[in-house]
Parts: sequence; structure tokens; C-alpha cells
Amino acid sequence: MSSFLSDVDAMFESVASSIDLPEGLAEKIRVCNATYVTRFGVRLRGRMHTFTGWRAVHSTHNNPAKGGIRYSPDADQDEVEALAALMTYKCALLGLPFGGSKGALMIDPREWEEHELEKITRRFAQELIRHGFLSSGMNVPAPDMGTNEQTMMWIADEYRRLKPDDINGMACVTGKPLGGNGIEGRTEATGRGVQFAVQAFFETPTDAAKAGFTGNGLSGKTIVVQGLGNVGYHAAKFLSTEDGCKIVAVIERDGVVRNSSGLDIEALKVHVTETGGVQGFAGGTYDRDGAAALEDECDILIPAAMERVIHSGNAEAIKARLLVEAANGPTTFEADKKLRDRGVVIIPDLYANAGGVAVSYFEWVKNLTHIPFGLMERRYDEKGHRTLARSLEMMTGRAFPKETEAEFFQGRREIDLVRSGLDDMMRSTYAELSRRWNDPSDPAIDLRSAAYSLSINRIAEAYKAIGI
Ligand code: GLU
Repeated sequence: MSSFLSDVDAMFESVASSIDLPEGLAEKIRVCNATYVTRFGVRLRGRMHTFTGWRAVHSTHNNPAKGGIRYSPDADQDEVEALAALMTYKCALLGLPFGGSKGALMIDPREWEEHELEKITRRFAQELIRHGFLSSGMNVPAPDMGTNEQTMMWIADEYRRLKPDDINGMACVTGKPLGGNGIEGRTEATGRGVQFAVQAFFETPTDAAKAGFTGNGLSGKTIVVQGLGNVGYHAAKFLSTEDGCKIVAVIERDGVVRNSSGLDIEALKVHVTETGGVQGFAGGTYDRDGAAALEDECDILIPAAMERVIHSGNAEAIKARLLVEAANGPTTFEADKKLRDRGVVIIPDLYANAGGVAVSYFEWVKNLTHIPFGLMERRYDEKGHRTLARSLEMMTGRAFPKETEAEFFQGRREIDLVRSGLDDMMRSTYAELSRRWNDPSDPAIDLRSAAYSLSINRIAEAYKAIGI
């Protein structure tokens, strides 16, 4: 039986084997550098409870290593290492100067009160700090499944207490709340990135045609979304309200809700937050069998929850022509091949869900520069202070000709800068993927192989530069 990690490794190897790399380098890139396991106790509800947590560092060809921390009762080392590897490849694909890492705590956050979660999180953070797995220069976590901006803030605050003299302390974690040195647009970033990825695909008609979509763009496309968490909710909301797509089914823990004329995502999100599931939502028809809806008739399927939900058991039955991997690792290695054989196009996780870590990068740079966006704007407007404006260029990855600079910064808010920076990154990365996929002399077999190929080559360059 394959595992999540063995599948990620298999995907890596299927591409690495056809790249001309110095002997032994592919293996060095593939393996996880180190995984820290901690078992710590917290006194709660009148007794001691022991928790198990992990932080896997897959690669440090760039420092810090970057990647989320998830809270899940099903977490294990295999999963954490697979997710850490995906972070390495994802960051390299987007050109972000990070290595890859991922953490998890084996816990069901819904079973604990807020104040209990705070205590547990702070203890976990202490362990990470003590063992060198948390700092702005070495290892920078972010939210993932089961964690959010509050979790990140507790971690940042615990770091600040233990390392009060670290001037870059706030950059030890991203995805913090706005009032706590976070950045505008980070919460919606992964979903926003999914939207930009889908847009970029449909704006490339020859690629869209490979999935059988001819001519009429994104408007009116039917979508099934799995998971109405942070990623699924934002992706579904933006695609339906801004691009004219119809979300015909949403799958959640307790089943699926369908509506062939399109679900009201905002109203459904309120319902899910209030009741914990999709059952009883007035705007659609409920069915207990959520997994069956992955096989529903639709144009686009967006798994935005768990890994390995599309496997050899259901791959043949998937009817969507485009699969957009908003989750990490939703398709097994075997299923990937079956889908490809049937002509289903996959926008792979490495690219589709990279919006989160891209905006994490903006937040990290913002924290390290110690320059709030508003200050930069005012300084430029009032005093024409160009040095400060320059660091903004750095963050957005855009170059501004001197004459347009004043115009660009006039009235720009942080959210606009974050969104345009993300838009740039997602679209330019898609252009590279598409070029690699359609390379006349050596075409990649699909977008996933194109993504791995670009990413592996970039990491190999970093190793070659060091002389390894
Ligand atoms: N957890 C997110 C991911 O899987 C974000 C990671 C980050 O921002 O560091 O990509």
C-alpha cells in the first residue's frame, strides 16, 4: 500500500529521473532532512494530558524552512514529512527564498475550549523554540488545517516572551492577525490564489482546450468544492461572485449539499459555522454521502480539504474535466495516472494552493523590514522618500519606473499591494508551467510534471551553487 509520503516521493522521482542531475543529488533533494517529535504534558481539566507533535524540516537549501502547522487527530509522521516535501517544491516553484517544513499536533481542536487550546499551543511553541524549530531565520510556521490566526498569534507571543531581545521575533510565524503584525489579505490568500490559478488556466485557450473547454471562458462553469474551510470557502466565494461560476455542490464532514442553479456560498458558510455542517441548509438538497459527490457531473472539481481523497477507487468515476488541487496531496499517485489517461487535466497542489505561502512571504518581509505599509505610503507622499518606496517594490516583486511610482503609490492600500503581488506571482508562474507543458522539444506530460520539473531544477541550482 502506498502512503502519502511514498506517493509524493513517487511523483518527485517520476520527474527527477528524466532530469540530468549530478549523481546522488536527486536523492538528497527528495529526502526529509530531519523530523522533530515532541511529547509534552499539559495539565487540563484536573489531570495531565500528553500531546504528540511534529515539525519536519524537509529542506534548508534556503533558510528559513517554511510551512504550516496543522491540528488533526489523524496526524502522523508520514503525513508531516509528505507535507514538508510539498512545501519545498511549492516554494521553489514560486521562486520564494524558503526551504520546506511542516508541523502537526495530534489533537482534535473541536474537543477543546479556546483557553485550553491556548495553553496547549503555547506549550508546543516552547518545545519548538527550545529545539531550534521556530525562529524568523530558521523555521517559520503558518496556519494549516485546524489552526488559524489566533493559533499563530499565541505562538508569536510565546516566542516574544522567551526571546524578548530578538528584534525579528514577530517574523517567526506568519498568518498572524492584522493587529498582531499580520498582513492584509493573508486569510483569503490561498483561496484567492486558487482563483488566480483557475483564471490563468482559462486565459490560456490552448491549455483549456486540452481539458475540452473551448472558447467561452470561466463564466457559467459548474464547480464541486470539497471543504468549506478557509481555502474552500474563499475559493468558492471568489469564483462564484467574481467569475460567474456556479458552485453546484459543497462537500463537508457531515455530507453534501447540492443546488444545480448554484449555492449561495456566503449563506452556506454562515450555516456551517453555526451548525457545524451542511445538513439543514435551506438553499440546497442534503445527502449524507459526501464522498459520492466527488463523482458528480461538473466542469471543475476543487478538493480543498484532505489529502488522498481521489484514489484508485474513485478516479475512474470522476466526471470533472478539470481538477484543481486546493488541498495538499488530494490525488494519489495511482489516481493521478488514471485521471491523466482519461484526459482529465489537473492543476497541481504545488501551484494551485501556493497563494497562502506567497502572501506569508510578504508578511515575513514586512515583519523583517519593520516598515508598516501605511508609513511607507505617507512618507512617500509627504516627503518623497524613495528608499522606503523601494522596499515596497521588493515585497511585491514589481519594478516601478520612476515616473509612474508616485502615481502607483498614491492611495494604494496594503490589500491592493498584496493582491497585485499575488496576482503577478500566480500568473507568471502559470505562464512558466504552460511553457514547460507545451515545450515543443521536450513537453512535460502534464502540469504536475511541469511543476516538479521547474521546481527540481531550481533546487538543484541552489545545491550546485553551494558546490554540493
Ligand atoms: N499551510 C499553507 C500551505 O500548505 C501555508 C504555508 C505557509 O504560509 O507557510 O501552503
